[in-house]
Amino acid sequence: MEASSGGGMVNIVMNGKQEALSIRIDPEVVNREDIDMLQDLMIAAVNEAIRKSQEMMTEEMKKSPAGSISRPILKKGAVGMALYAKPIDHLIEALMRLPGIGKKTASRLAFHILRSSSSEAQELARSILDVKEKIRLCSTCFNLTDEDPCRVCQMSADTRRSCAWSRDRMT
Ligand SMILES: [Zn+2]
Repeated sequence: MEASSGGGMVNIVMNGKQEALSIRIDPEVVNREDIDMLQDLMIAAVNEAIRKSQEMMTEEMKKSPAGSISRPILKKGAVGMALYAKPIDHLIEALMRLPGIGKKTASRLAFHILRSSSSEAQELARSILDVKEKIRLCSTCFNLTDEDPCRVCQMSADTRRSCAWSRDRMT
């Protein structure tokens, strides 16, 4: 059974007894500045491997007559930690769809977001949604704007009005 993190940057093969058989690390993530990220990727991959391995064991237990295999010890903490591997991989995949963002940068960003405070993460998420929900094209000049007509068009309309007004006053 195989588990990976960071879109395959760390790959672990584990058997049904939660014994790691092999660990493969993408050479791309091996350098001094990436140690923190590599450690996070290892934790994610190990926990994902344990989760899959436990699933495999549960399946085996269902097939075999009761009591023939001793029950796996399911630690609560381990299950909770394993859950974190999937959301982080989803985030990495989403970031990789951005232009100019490779697997490595996406992982670095994802783990940065993971370590940042929840208010920082919320601000990032909100500003992404705001751009989609609030920004549209000005119906007059077709520039990007958060109000329609845009401020430039509103201003030039005002200027036209005040010009007309002062011209009227002059004559
Ligand atoms: Zn405009």
